[in-house]
Amino acid sequence: MSFDDHRPPSAELLADCVHCGFCLPTCPTYVLWGEEMDSPRGRIHLMDQVRQGEPLSPSTVQHFDACLGCLACVTACPSGVQYDVLISATRAQVERNHERPTGQRALRTAIFQLFPYPRRLRALRGPLRLHQRSGLSRLLRRSRLLQRISPSLAAMESLAPPLSRAERVPERVAAAGERRGVVGMLLGCVQREFFPGVNAATARVLAAEGFDVIAPASQGCCGALSAHSGREPEAQRFARKLIDTFEQAGVDAVVVNSAGCGSSMKEYAELLADDPSYSDRAAAFVDRVRDISEFLVEVGTVAPRHPLEVTVAYHDACHLAHAQGVRSQPRELLRAIPGLELREIKDSAICCGSAGIYNLLNPEPAQELGDAKAKNVLATGAALLVTANPGCLMQVTSSLERQGKSMATAHTVEVLDASIRGQSLPAASE
Ligand code: SF4
Ligand code: SF4
Repeated sequence: MSFDDHRPPSAELLADCVHCGFCLPTCPTYVLWGEEMDSPRGRIHLMDQVRQGEPLSPSTVQHFDACLGCLACVTACPSGVQYDVLISATRAQVERNHERPTGQRALRTAIFQLFPYPRRLRALRGPLRLHQRSGLSRLLRRSRLLQRISPSLAAMESLAPPLSRAERVPERVAAAGERRGVVGMLLGCVQREFFPGVNAATARVLAAEGFDVIAPASQGCCGALSAHSGREPEAQRFARKLIDTFEQAGVDAVVVNSAGCGSSMKEYAELLADDPSYSDRAAAFVDRVRDISEFLVEVGTVAPRHPLEVTVAYHDACHLAHAQGVRSQPRELLRAIPGLELREIKDSAICCGSAGIYNLLNPEPAQELGDAKAKNVLATGAALLVTANPGCLMQVTSSLERQGKSMATAHTVEVLDASIRGQSLPAASE
């Protein structure tokens, strides 16, 4: 089986690649293995071959599956190759036209029956907290027993952040002082259930900056994990529902605090391009989507900042830096806090290995990348690691732990919140 006729990777876009190799040093899989077919250039060549009728063999699929979708190659490419569009089309083709082995299928089914559903994640919180408090979690990690049974399950266990009491965001939070607008807020799935403090901080910061915040409780998943895994019909279903929800909320902008979700929501116009009842609405929705740091810099901040004496290593989440081009805004916001010293991380363009569910499906390379990132983070000598994606926080924290190290971590918006409120930073997620 090769590609079918439903939106295969376009010949014109494939032809944009001039095989110069400028992207190779930033491609994490090429850096790890030095294999041409595990580089952007090699994958583009494979896409072209399959488009021309070569079979979608298991080894070809393996090269596509090994791609983290980090999009560092898009940033690095001087010819403007749209690898993001090409790999999205390819993943959807793989999902439709390739039968994975039973074990892989079962793992993917389990992941997609759990992560995009906040209620199911919420049901997990109790048992997971019990597991973490009982000391069993520490024992399992030390003994590496789970690692021997299933590396994916071990990765899932070690990535789960320490769970504290859930802090829920009300459906409406009123602006403090003069109202500058009304914004919708995406609650996310993992963010909502595993990092509720980040959502609470986001709502407080937006309100402090003069915005009414609407966070509809009925909102579901944005479809990011599904879209980035080629599950097109599922991603479209989630996208339509989210568009409906925020249209009803009547907001000026939809603010997102998770890089992976934001990048996927900005792709709704392409995702729903063939749907006559949603294509125009999707384009209008995309115009309103903003990452929280992008939004704050765009509207300008007014809430006074209190000093925070802390050194911060800022980690660029790939889906914020490479996919959305949001690099300067979080740095600008952090630098504006008196007393805060910002430090850059070496090889910042290279992915930490989280990449949505990549670290669950491909735990070994993900761990290698995570360990390299953790070393570079430690080398900054900073006291606090800051990033804007829950996946990156979990990935780097777990890598630090594997190296016997710990470091306080926070989302960008938690640092802003602490500064605005004149409080110390949230308890370290060590
Ligand atoms: S993707 Fe871009 S940078 Fe990489 S080989 Fe092709 S043209 Fe060169
Ligand atoms: S998306 Fe990332 S892993 Fe995939 S080819 Fe591009 S740089 Fe390599």
